[in-house]
Amino acid sequence: MTDLPVPSHCPYCALQCGMAITAEAVISPRTDIPANAGGALCQKGWTAAELLTGGARLTTPLLHGRPVSWETALDHVAGRLSEIRAEHGPDGVAVFGGGGLTNEKAYQLGKFARVVLGTSQIDYNGRFCMSSAAAASSRAFGMDRGMPFPITDLAEADVVLLAGGNVAETMPPFVRHLNGPRLIVVDPRRTATAKLAWLHLQPTPGTDLALALGLLHLAIADGLVDEEYVAARTSGFDAVRTSLAAWWPERVERITGVPVPRMRQAVRALASAGRGVVLTGRGAEQHAKGTDTVTAFINLALALGLPGREGSGYGCLTGQGNGQGGREHGQKADQLPGYRRIDDPAAREHVARVWGVSPEDLPGPGRSAYELLDALGTPEGPRALLLFGSNPVVSAPRSGHVADRLRGLDLLVVADVVLSETAAMADVVFPVTQWAEETGTMTNLEGRVLLRRQAVRPPDGVRGDLELLQGLAKRFGHAFSADPREVFDELRRASAGGLADYAGITYDRIEREKGVFWPCPSPDHPGTPRPFLDRFATPDGRARFVAVEHRPAVEEIDEDYPLYLTTGRVLAQYQSGAQTRRIAALAEAAPEPFVELHPDLAGELEIGAGDLVRVSSRRGEGRWVARISDAIRRDTVFMPFHWEGVNRLTNPALDPVSRMPEFKVCAVRVERVA
Ligand code: SF4
Repeated sequence: MTDLPVPSHCPYCALQCGMAITAEAVISPRTDIPANAGGALCQKGWTAAELLTGGARLTTPLLHGRPVSWETALDHVAGRLSEIRAEHGPDGVAVFGGGGLTNEKAYQLGKFARVVLGTSQIDYNGRFCMSSAAAASSRAFGMDRGMPFPITDLAEADVVLLAGGNVAETMPPFVRHLNGPRLIVVDPRRTATAKLAWLHLQPTPGTDLALALGLLHLAIADGLVDEEYVAARTSGFDAVRTSLAAWWPERVERITGVPVPRMRQAVRALASAGRGVVLTGRGAEQHAKGTDTVTAFINLALALGLPGREGSGYGCLTGQGNGQGGREHGQKADQLPGYRRIDDPAAREHVARVWGVSPEDLPGPGRSAYELLDALGTPEGPRALLLFGSNPVVSAPRSGHVADRLRGLDLLVVADVVLSETAAMADVVFPVTQWAEETGTMTNLEGRVLLRRQAVRPPDGVRGDLELLQGLAKRFGHAFSADPREVFDELRRASAGGLADYAGITYDRIEREKGVFWPCPSPDHPGTPRPFLDRFATPDGRARFVAVEHRPAVEEIDEDYPLYLTTGRVLAQYQSGAQTRRIAALAEAAPEPFVELHPDLAGELEIGAGDLVRVSSRRGEGRWVARISDAIRRDTVFMPFHWEGVNRLTNPALDPVSRMPEFKVCAVRVERVA
C-alpha cells in the first residue's frame, strides 16, 4: 500500500472513468483515459469512496443473521451444498453472478460452477442488461463487442442516432463525446439526453422496432441505400428489402406516433453524414422483441454503409461496469471463457484442457437468468443458490415473485459489500471486498481491457470473492488460486483462440498502454480497436442482414390497465441502488422512487405533484409519489427502478433469442390514494 494515488477506475458504469485513489480513499479524476474525456466524473464517481469507509459495510459473515467466523460460514455452506448435491444432483445448486464483477471473478465463478459444483445452473444479471444487443450483434457481425470502435470516434462523427439511451443521466461524461455530431435521440421520454438532441423521435413504448423498420423503408424508398457497400460487405439485403415493403411510413406513424417528416429528417441526416453512428441502449433492448429491435437498427446502419468504416458504425451502450467482460468469460448459462459456446465440442475440449478436466465432465447449457430465478425452490429447480454481486429482489422483473422463489430455497448464500435486500434474505452472507480494495481487470463499453489495482486496505473481516471461492473449492478438494494475476493468466489461456481472445493482454501492458482492446491474441499484437474494418467475424466476412417483423408489446394497454409503464434510471443512483442509496449525497439528491406523469393525465386522474399514487400491474402494486412533467407521453408513466418494489410491476416475458425480460413496457393502472 502506498500513500501515492493509485490509478484505478470508477466502481460503477461501463464507461469506467479513470480515477486515482489514495490509501486514505481520496479520489481524483484521471485525464489519461479517453472514456472520461479530459478527467470528467459524475456525482456517483466523485462520491464512490464513501462506501469504502462508511458504516454501511458488512464486516463479518452472517449465518442466519448471527455473526460467525469465515471458517464457520465456509464449513456450513460447503456442508449444506454437499447434502443438497447428494439429494438433488449437481443441478440442485445454482450460481448467479453479476456484470460488475471483475473478469477474474466472472471467470472463476464460471469455472467454480462447472468444475467444483458440476452444475449447468449458472447465469448472471447482465442477462437483464444488454443481452439483446449482444445477440443481435453476434447474429449480424459474428461477434459482440459493445462499441466496436474507440469512444473518441464519436466526437468525429457528423450524426449519431441513439435509440433508447439516456447517457446524460446514466454516464454523464459520455455526453462530452457527443458535442460534435448532430444527435438524434429515440426515446418515449424527453430525457436529459433528448433535450440535448438536434432531433427527438418520441415513439410509443414498445414500438422502436416498427420505427426502425419505417426508417429503413424510407431509406430504400428515397434511394439512400449505400448499394456499393451493401454489395461488397453484406449478405441478405434482398430479403430485408422485400420484408420492408409493408412498412410504409404512414403505417409506422400510426403505430409509433412519430410523424413521417421527423422520420424522414432522421434518415436523411444519417444517410448524408460522412461519418454516422447508430447506438442502442436499454430502451431498445429490454423487450421481449429486443434482439429483433436491435437487429432492425443494425439493418438500418448496414443499409447506410456505416459498420466497419473508420469513424462510423453501430454500437451497443453496455451499462454495468464490467457488462462487456462479464459476458465473455463464462458466467453465462450458454458460455465458456473467450466468448465460446458451451455446446461447441472444440470449445469444451480447449477449456477442459486448461481446467485439467475431461470435456465430458463439463455440464451443458443451463437456464437463463429469469428462468433460473423462476425455477428456484421448485421441485424441478435448484434448491440452493450462491449469489455474487447482484440484487435480484430489486432488479429482477416481477420481483415479488422472485423474492418468493428465493424464500423457497433450502440454502441462499450471498456475497456482497452491504446488506442488500437480497442479502437480508440469505442464510449465509459473506462480506467481500470492493473495487479499490482489490486488484482485477474490467472491460469497458469500448472493449478496452482496464486494470484496477488495490489502493485501499479492506476493513477487518472482509475478504475477496476469489478467496471465498478458493475456500469453498478447497472444501470440495479443488485447488483454486485467489491471486488475481494468476487467475487472469489462466483466463488468458482459456480465452486464447476464442472470439474474445485476451491471450496477449497482461497487467503490465494494460498499465503501460492505458488499456488494451480485445481481441489481442499474442503479446506482440497491438490489440484491435476497430475489429470490423476489413471483414466482419462471420464465416464469409460479410455482415448479415436479418429480416425481422414488428409485433406489439406482450402486454398492451386495455380498460383495466390503461397506461404504459416504462422504467429507467436517474442521475444519482446506479442499478439496484444497493451501493448508491447508502451514499449520503446521492441519497439526498435522489431519495425515493417516483411516478412521472404528463400534466394532462395528472389532470384527468386528479393527481397533483407530490400526491401519493397507487400503481398496479397484473403482477403487483405499490404506492409512490407523483411527479408531473410534460417530458413524458400522455399515455405513459415512468418510474426509476433503483428501489425495491418498482420491478414488482414489470413483465418477465422473455425475448426468444436473448432471454431478455420485457422491462421497458407493461400495462398499469394509476390512481390517487385518498
Ligand atoms: Fe464515470 Fe459511470 Fe462512474 Fe459516473 S458512474 S464516474 S460516468 S464510470
